[in-house]
Parts: sequence; C-alpha cells; structure tokens
Amino acid sequence: MRINIAIDGPAGTGKSTIAKRVSSELGIKYMDTGAMYRGIAYALLRKGIDVNEHEKVLAALPETSISVEYGETGQYIVYEGENINAYLRTPETTKASSDVAVIPEVRAKLVAIQQETAKRYDIVMDGRDIGTVVLPDAPLKIFMTASPRVRAERRYLELKNAGKEADIDVLEKEIAARDKTDSTRAASPLKQAEDAVLLDTTSMGIEEVVAAVMKLVKERFEI
Ligand code: C5P
Repeated sequence: MRINIAIDGPAGTGKSTIAKRVSSELGIKYMDTGAMYRGIAYALLRKGIDVNEHEKVLAALPETSISVEYGETGQYIVYEGENINAYLRTPETTKASSDVAVIPEVRAKLVAIQQETAKRYDIVMDGRDIGTVVLPDAPLKIFMTASPRVRAERRYLELKNAGKEADIDVLEKEIAARDKTDSTRAASPLKQAEDAVLLDTTSMGIEEVVAAVMKLVKERFEI
C-alpha cells in the first residue's frame, strides 16, 4: 500500500514541523503545499499583479508556473529557474498566498502537481485540503489544531530564532484573519475530513506530537 499521509489544519499549528519530522523518520518524501500557494503568490506579486484582481491573475496564470524541487535542506520552490524560498514568508507574500488560494483555477493547477506526486511516491503532505480534496483516499489523515494564542506564540519564536522582530498580538490577528479567509472560501475551504484524526497540540511539545503521529502511522500502515 502507498504510504500517503495527509496533515491538515489552520496556520501555525506546527503541521510543517511535524510532517517534516515524520517523513524523515519514515524515509519518505515531504510536500509542503502551503509553500506552493506562497510561490504562486510571490510570482504574481513579482509580476506586479494585484492578487485580488482575479481576472488579471487568471490571465497571468498560464505563464506563471512554479515547481517543487528537493535538495539537501529539503523542499524548495523554483520560479523561472530561481530558488525563491527566501521570499515566501514575508508578511506580504503570506497574506497574498491566502488571497490567491481562494481562486479555483490556482488551486486546480497546484492540486494536479500534488496528486501526481502522491501517486509516484510515499509521501507526507501538509496543507488545508489534503484530506478532503487532494488525497481523499489517504489511509491516514490528521487534522491538527491549537489555540490561536499558542499558534501566535509559536510563530513569534520561529521569527525570533530567525533574527526577526515581531509582535505576538499582531501575529495573532494575522493568523485569525488567515483562518477566516481559509475556512470561509467557497473553493476547498479548510475543514476536517470526516475520517481524519483530530490532534489538538495546544499543550503538546514537538516530540509529543511526533510520537502521537508515529503511533498512528504504525497502526495504520502496520509498519
Ligand atoms: O501552510 P501555509 O501557511 O504556508 O499556507 C499559506 C496559505 O496557502 C494558507 O493560508 C492557505 O490560504 C493556502 N493553502 C491552501 N491549501 C493548502 C495549503 C495552503 O489554501 N493545501
């Protein structure tokens, strides 16, 4: 059986950290689908397109392609031959990623890459719609949540460790705004798949979450 593991949940629940760790423990691929939405958003911004002008986005979309590559430091997004990972986490690109993610044509383009990759490889994929839309038949689906305050605190520490200044209250507001955009959009809104296991990580440390997910993996795939 193909190992396809879907991890979904709102921003800042630690999905990427956990998905990366689990994929490396299992020795299988990891796909951060949020980085793909960020990549398209960044490419459009670089072309000077306002991502809220959907007609302009649709006109530019056929010539705006990103690819997902893997190197020593893990996954990176390539646009016009350039590794653009360094630009994907600015506040402007972060906001624009949620804005472009409401456009069905953008989603279709990225979902096709995600589904093709999961067909070819054992994979841990994280995002918002992996269990509901991208891999509805994944044998293991996990929906991760955590309180907005804890999620803001985690993002704050991440930024601080990267040498960046941030304000926890502002981060909490930005996270709440993205949650709203993600869960109220018409196209593939963020929601827990019926057959997903809910994991509330509010008072769990990284190692605890990794252990909980690995336990589910071993049960589900009998490995
Ligand atoms: O996971 P991350 O925060 O990097 O995702 C950035 C944005 O991309 C999210 O706020 C969401 O709007 C969008 N996204 C999505 N579907 C996914 C992954 C991300 O709509 N599978």
